[in-house]
Amino acid sequence: MYAKEVEAKSILRKHKKIDSWFVYHNSMNLYRGCTHNCSYCDGRAENYYMEGDFGKDIVVKTNAIEVLRKELTPTKRKLPLKRSFMLSGGGVGDSYEPVEKKYELTRKTIELLYEFNFLLHILTKSTLIKRDLDILKKINKQSRAIISFNFSSVDENVSKIFEPNVPSPDKRLDMISYFKDNGFVCGMFLMSVIPLITDTPEMIDS
Ligand code: SF4
Repeated sequence: MYAKEVEAKSILRKHKKIDSWFVYHNSMNLYRGCTHNCSYCDGRAENYYMEGDFGKDIVVKTNAIEVLRKELTPTKRKLPLKRSFMLSGGGVGDSYEPVEKKYELTRKTIELLYEFNFLLHILTKSTLIKRDLDILKKINKQSRAIISFNFSSVDENVSKIFEPNVPSPDKRLDMISYFKDNGFVCGMFLMSVIPLITDTPEMIDS
């Protein structure tokens, strides 16, 4: 893996209305590219204006916390920011992909959102999220945090072929139990549906 450090001009992607599917008003990408490298990933197909390989060359927005702090501070904003759900992970990476172990941008972002009393929705495929239980519990108690996991199916063999770099579906299901036991509302996303492989009635049912 190659991590390219960059300075971002802005972090928040603002939306006029709450997204009813992903449950967020504003979203952010702290990293671009994703070494989970799932074979069905639209990022891999589109590359989203990234230099290099989406599944190997990760762009790290090293000043993300500083920029986000400015964007969240009411006196530094022209327009008020609605206090609503923030989505961490916005389509060009997973907030808990391996590079997060080193940079901890997701953890620091959650601490900032706690400080500014925002609500949070995290969508991931990674069990690394367990590391941040302490701060997630604080934000859940103060406002609300939804923890969602993403699945293309719950079939271990399908997962090994199409998403070999992420924890198995069983491990992700265990994470849902773990976070539910810790008082979180949890979500499950069925994405991507792989035509003729994971869209059979049996697969969808399971
Ligand atoms: S985890 Fe998500 S962003 Fe990362 S490669 Fe897989 S589908 Fe793409």
